[in-house]
Amino acid sequence: MKIYLDNAATTKVREEVLEKMIHVLKDEYGNPSSLYNIGRKAKSYLDEARDEASKILNCESKEIYFTSGGTESDNWAIKGIAQKYKDKGNHIITSKIEHHAILHTCQYLEKNGFEVTYLDVDKEGKISLEQLEKAIKPSTILVSIMFANNEVGTIQPIKEIGEITKKNNIIFHTDAVQAVGHVPIDVKEMNIDLLSLSGHKIKASKGVGALYVRTGIKIEPLIHGGAQERKRRGGTENVPNIAGLGVALKLARENMEEDMAYVKKLKDFLVNSILEEIPHTTLNGSKENRLSGNANITFDFIEGESILLLLDMKGIYISTGSACASGSLDPSHVLLSMGKLHEEAHGSIRFSVDKENTMEEIKIVIEQLKPIISRLREMSPLFEDYMKNKKGE
Ligand SMILES: *Cc1c(COP(=O)(O)O)cnc(C)c1O
Repeated sequence: MKIYLDNAATTKVREEVLEKMIHVLKDEYGNPSSLYNIGRKAKSYLDEARDEASKILNCESKEIYFTSGGTESDNWAIKGIAQKYKDKGNHIITSKIEHHAILHTCQYLEKNGFEVTYLDVDKEGKISLEQLEKAIKPSTILVSIMFANNEVGTIQPIKEIGEITKKNNIIFHTDAVQAVGHVPIDVKEMNIDLLSLSGHKIKASKGVGALYVRTGIKIEPLIHGGAQERKRRGGTENVPNIAGLGVALKLARENMEEDMAYVKKLKDFLVNSILEEIPHTTLNGSKENRLSGNANITFDFIEGESILLLLDMKGIYISTGSACASGSLDPSHVLLSMGKLHEEAHGSIRFSVDKENTMEEIKIVIEQLKPIISRLREMSPLFEDYMKNKKGE
């Protein structure tokens, strides 16, 4: 048995994407910069994918630049804007719950003469618009706030943030890696100047993504080289991966409403069953403003890692926090920023549901989870203390 509930970490490449990629890999080996027939053919795959990316975001296709994924897009957005606008100012605003691709890039810039404000979030993981407005100074050049959080699924008030940045003439970047294909996005209506997306979170391949850069925004290249991507991102384009990304974006856009309604139904059933049938559990994040497939739950008195390992033995795959942080023993910076205690953060796991999952799988997970939680609590000194205190009352 294998039940995959870690779709926020990565997704399985979908069949239609795979077919396209194999076709391009096998038969369309031209270099898209070559002027002869097979080169032009290869370029047409890039054009198609660029078109699809522009459709899902409501921008122009010439505003899309392909990259090696979410991390590169984030690095490029932050460093590229910082470098280009440093004469205007050296201040950047972001939040405490960003992905490390943003946080570590900002920390790098802090070592290089930039000043960064990391906004707090409330207990649901949302930034405060008042705090954002207060943080703006004459030297602020960039605001980077993620669209939806990868650990707890909270969706930020992106349109309102865009209004504030526009009013103050500040560039607005959003890491929308978790949001693209899950939430309707309109970069025009939301006043988004730059946006990062990644292929492998939406059923395309790993190692491909894109950065949207609004026309008129200047940006320094991150990767210098040839004249590819309108001279802004050197290197021969990863044609098979990009062609696959195009297919993934098209299918995500066409079926978004239906897919997300289905995913939400499964997720709600999972969450409600856990909260009702397993005592001492809490749903983290926002009840309303969250990704359809995300369920981040704290199980009091036990360690998320232990739950993960016991579920793994049953062929059920979930995660503790984010895949990047779960290699370390540090509790999630996201949950701590939301005011969770260390032991609560340690006791949290994330389920991320996808349209490939079935209700049957969800029911199996709930049945497998119950004895695992009881067993871990029986061995937990924290739980023992709790029961003793309860009896003493
Ligand atoms: C996965 C993820 C990234 C990194 O994307 P990669 O393509 O894996 O480099 C960045 N931001 C968020 C919110 C993510 O979930």
